[in-house]
Amino acid sequence: MAKDRFGRNIHYLRISLTDHCNLRCVYCMPEDMTFRPNAELMQDDEILTLTRLFATLGFDKIRLTGGEPTIRKNVVDIVRGISAIEGINSVSMTTNGLLLSKLAQPLADAGLERVNISIDTLDPVKFKRLTRWGEVDEVLEGINAAEAAGLTPIKLNAVIVTGYNESDVVPLSGLTAKNPWQVRFIEMMPFAGATDFQLKNTVTAAQIKEQVEAAYGPLEVVNNGELDGEARLFRLPNGVGDVGFISSVTSPFCASCTRARLTSDGILRMCLLREKEIDLLTPLRAGASVEELRTMILDAVWMKPWGHGLEEGAIPLNRTMSEIGG
Ligand code: SAM
Repeated sequence: MAKDRFGRNIHYLRISLTDHCNLRCVYCMPEDMTFRPNAELMQDDEILTLTRLFATLGFDKIRLTGGEPTIRKNVVDIVRGISAIEGINSVSMTTNGLLLSKLAQPLADAGLERVNISIDTLDPVKFKRLTRWGEVDEVLEGINAAEAAGLTPIKLNAVIVTGYNESDVVPLSGLTAKNPWQVRFIEMMPFAGATDFQLKNTVTAAQIKEQVEAAYGPLEVVNNGELDGEARLFRLPNGVGDVGFISSVTSPFCASCTRARLTSDGILRMCLLREKEIDLLTPLRAGASVEELRTMILDAVWMKPWGHGLEEGAIPLNRTMSEIGG
């Protein structure tokens, strides 16, 4: 078991399969974003080798992310390989859903359990403005395909951005009236690449909740108010799904964080919002032994920061969100 110096059991690894993306969401990366050459990214066998190592240290839960994980060549084989690793109990994915109409079933067959699909608006025009060119209908098809493939419960992620999609809070949360989905509103966080934009246009979880309640009435608390992962869950009056709030900025959940992140170029980050990084890929390629790599991971886990430093103005400026993996 990998414990940090605060006694947290760190067992959840988010692996970014690529920093490349087929969208350019305004709050995630600049329009002229450049991506790493493929040779700099972990190769399929390197992803599996590192995941095996993490599994031997008690990591049992994997989420694949990006960039956009579904555009990674061989994504289905990678999922199959990770699912087969002894000790890995759950493999899920965060995706923009654009390619799920084709990939949901093969991914499910390969062992993927669940997907979180990002969708910030149901309006095609606003969707295009937010993503710089995406088609929302393709995401909706992807959601249906994921549900049909049993990648459930479906969780939908939405970032609400001033001047772009504030009025979408109502239709998005309204999806949970009739669908057994979790619609989760994530507070926008600041990173490199779009820092000023992110700091200026944040809408807080409290503001979003107020809007939902103004439209639908008081929300019922779900789960006795306990966090479900990183989300606090509520239900619309007579709703069948849940509305979640991920208030990373205004009410951080660092005390219960069990996560580590492996970027697509093989860098371990113990906090999404801290700049400190531990390169695992270079030593792996240089022939480091399993023991040496395990020690590097355990040392990094031990030194996991207690929490992020947004309140003190510590903003991670060494990578965009898309280069880390949400
Ligand atoms: N491409 C995939 C997707 O769209 O879900 C996975 C990667 S994306 C970086 C993961 C999640 O991070 C998405 O739900 C996205 O909306 C969210 N995200 C991106 N930038 C963010 C930011 N600055 N603050 C909060 N969430 C952000």
